[in-house]
Amino acid sequence: TSAAPLLRVEGLQVAYGHIEAVKGVDFELREGEITALVGANGAGKSTTLMALSGLVKPRAGRFLFEGQDLARLKPHERVSRGIVQVAEGRAMLTQLTVRENLELGAYSRPGRKASPGEMERIFELFPRLKERLNGYAGNLSGGEQQMLAIGRALMAKPRVLLLDEPSMGLAPIVVQEIFRTLVGINRTGLTILLVEQNVRQALRIASQAYVLETGRIVLQGPGRTLLDDPQVQAAYLGG
Ligand code: ATP
Repeated sequence: TSAAPLLRVEGLQVAYGHIEAVKGVDFELREGEITALVGANGAGKSTTLMALSGLVKPRAGRFLFEGQDLARLKPHERVSRGIVQVAEGRAMLTQLTVRENLELGAYSRPGRKASPGEMERIFELFPRLKERLNGYAGNLSGGEQQMLAIGRALMAKPRVLLLDEPSMGLAPIVVQEIFRTLVGINRTGLTILLVEQNVRQALRIASQAYVLETGRIVLQGPGRTLLDDPQVQAAYLGG
């Protein structure tokens, strides 16, 4: 499509002291699509996400969201604009119930409260969360915690949902379920940026994908095209 992207990343560079983690990265998110950023451990994927969320300060580059530069916005201001990162499973607030976690997700919004209908929409996506609504998040399985983390992020009314390795530490069958859910969420029109080391699964669902190696994008294209790419197969798909 020729529509302007929802978000453009231009010339992003991030360093930790003298370690250059991201060395000039450009990519874009098209509205309503799943975009994947894939690559090995240490390639700079998480650093790129943290820079977009405002958690690390870039050395250079800019983020244009609906044509506006995000540089001056604090992390919470970016969340208010709709750039919402799913918390990692481990960061889940285990001492709170499922309901309390979901309510916290709505807290970043101007009204600070969700309507009952919104929580119902989350339960349509994740019926098990409804069954466990008053249970402690700490008693959920790893997969259920990941679903709760996604549900909580959805309660913040994202325009762009950012996920950092939602498959990490989960059994293959649970990973499949999480990815199916992401496809379902995307079908409601939500734009998704997915960071993954699980290259095969991420490429399967991504409209556009970017392969990151030591801080640089080395390949890009539709997910399905990259799945068939001999270079990608040799480096990431074990064949
Ligand atoms: P992973 O899947 O392991 O998170 P990644 O592709 O997300 O990998 P990053 O975590 O962004 O990669 O790391 C990119 C580089 O920056 C690596 O060399 C890493 O060691 C380094 N790095 C990351 N965080 C820090 C930090 N807080 N201080 C110093 N170096 C860091």
